[in-house]
This record gives sequence, C-alpha cells and structure tokens, in this order.
Amino acid sequence: MSIADQKLREIREQVQTHLASVPARLTPERQSALENKIRAQLDAHNAVIVAHYYTSPEIQALAEATGGCVSDSLEMARFGRDHPAETLLVAGVRFMGETAKILTPNKRVLMPTLEATCSLDEGCPIDEFSAFCDAHPDRDVVVYANTSAAVKARADWVVTSSIALDVAEHLADEGKKVLWAPDRHLGDYVRRESGADILVWDGACIVHEEFKAKGILDLKNVHPDAAVLAHPESPASVLEIADHIGSTTQIIRAATELPQQKFIVATDQGIFYKLQKAAPDKTFLIAPTAGEGATCRSCANCPWMAMNELELLSDVLDAPEGREVFVDPALADRAMKPLDRMLSFAQSLNTSVVGRA
Ligand code: SF4
Repeated sequence: MSIADQKLREIREQVQTHLASVPARLTPERQSALENKIRAQLDAHNAVIVAHYYTSPEIQALAEATGGCVSDSLEMARFGRDHPAETLLVAGVRFMGETAKILTPNKRVLMPTLEATCSLDEGCPIDEFSAFCDAHPDRDVVVYANTSAAVKARADWVVTSSIALDVAEHLADEGKKVLWAPDRHLGDYVRRESGADILVWDGACIVHEEFKAKGILDLKNVHPDAAVLAHPESPASVLEIADHIGSTTQIIRAATELPQQKFIVATDQGIFYKLQKAAPDKTFLIAPTAGEGATCRSCANCPWMAMNELELLSDVLDAPEGREVFVDPALADRAMKPLDRMLSFAQSLNTSVVGRA
C-alpha cells in the first residue's frame, strides 16, 4: 500500500468519526438569529466572509449578502488580498486560510475551525514530498493549491484547477519537465491534455475519487438529454464520459453557456447553490458515488467543508482563540513566490484574453 493510500485509509476513518458528530440541521429561527448576529459581528470587527463553493448554501448566501465572496480557491485568494477588510473570515478548508494569510500577512485570518482539512493536503506530507523533489531535480515543481504552506514553499509554481492546464502548457512550451503534486487524477488529466512531461505524486480527493463512470452512465440512461460536467479531480473513466471538464468556476460557466437544459454534475454538491442561481431554469443532478467514502451524508459532500457551520462562524469573531491562522513568516515568504507566480500568470492570461477580444 502506498503512503498516499495508507493516509487515505486513515483519513476515511477520521471522516466517519466526524460525520457521526455532525449536529442536526438548524431550525429556521435559529438560522435567522445566527445570520443577524454574524452580520453585526462582521461590521463590528471590520471583517468579510471569504467562502468556497463547497460550503453550505446558508454560508454562501450570507457571504454574498454581506459583501463577501463565494468562489474557487484562486478567486478567494485574490479577493482576500484585495479587499479592504482588516479580518478575513475564511469558510473553507485549512489550506485556504493559510493561503489567505500568506498573501495578506498584515490581516487577521480566522476560520470557523482549523480542523477542516483536505485529503490532498493530508496525503502530501512535506518530508516525503521534499525527498520526492530531491530525487527529481531536473523537474519544475508544480503543486496544487490544496497543499500545506510548507509544500507550497518547496514549489516553483502553485496552481488551482482553473489554471493548471494553462501553466502545464506554458511549461511544456518552454521545454520544461514537471513534477506534479498532490492529486493524481488532476495531474494525469493535465498530462494527457497538455502533452507535458509530468511525473505525478500519488494523492487523491476522497470526494471526487468516489464518482464512478458506471453510475453516471446509468443515470444518463434515465436522463439521456443530460450533459455531464466533471471536475478534473475525478477519475479518468469519469472524465472520459464528461461533456465538459473544468474547475468549479468553469463548471458554473459551462452550465450557463451549454445548450443542454439538464446536467449531471461530478463535483461537491455545495456547487448546486451557485449553479441554480446562475441557471435557474436548468436542472442539475448530482453524479452518483459509490465506495468506501459513500454514506448518505458524505456522498459528493466534502466532510471538511461541511465543518464550516453557521454556529462556528457566529462565535469565531468574538472568541477567535485557537482559530486564527498563523504561518511562519520565513515559510510564508518562500510560499509567496510560487503563489505570486500563479497570480501574475493568471493576470497575464486575462489581459491577453481581453486584448484579443
Ligand atoms: S472536496 Fe476534496 S479537494 Fe476539496 S477540500 Fe474536500 S477533500 Fe480536499
């Protein structure tokens, strides 16, 4: 069993323990009271919510209603850096809070819980990863945003799924060989699409890895008019039958632009909030999952994203102890370089797109 597979087994056990302790849903009265309290706290603390698409619909709606952001990790990083608020309340998983702190060291970064992690981050420990890099000194190190600050600090580039393919094509054009970590499915997809020489670390997302091509094909038999939208962290067999492959933001855009009225969506079901807002007349079906991680509560629903509960958002601003994100300044300085490279590269792509329009 590889390090990554062993780690994944441990992580699945942690997930089951966590799911057993997830509280029941809030009553409408309690939810409304919490939302009002959080609005007042955000004003009092000059804070803004920076939320990921995979958080609950309640958190996404509150972030939007209070001038915050709901997006993928690249846009979350940009938004937090450029927003004037003194405190960023990051609703997502730990690497997103760390990234916000690295990009904006002078701001206070809080999270509802620092226990919200990610199987990709957990499956790429810095010592093993550093040894892997040392064994392949001829390769540019490209790491996914879903990694610790220490792993980012070891990299030449940080990428999100929105920009991974562009960066790989850019490096291939320059004749460079790539060492990719940690997601094996995304790495393999980028290698197939870009033609770049890419050596892939053996990590996986426990949510996307559960999507199965057979289940999706069975659902397509019932809904033959549906198009399949898939995140590239899904297995190759799922990507092969997808009509569109892209990051969360790209999936939302595809749902609005494609002519189909019905979609089978292979990514975390938190995205349905934005999908339904972006295309209210269209129908979205969650892609079936199966396997070890599949329970009625964890199917296509990241258990760590689900830890971002309104109750926790409501008290972290008044009682931030143990939930403020700190990153060693020397480590942050080193991690900043590949992050900056990604943001500058993303900006240059936008500029060139506008320039051609
Ligand atoms: S959905 Fe997957 S990649 Fe995203 S935070 Fe959860 S475990 Fe990590």
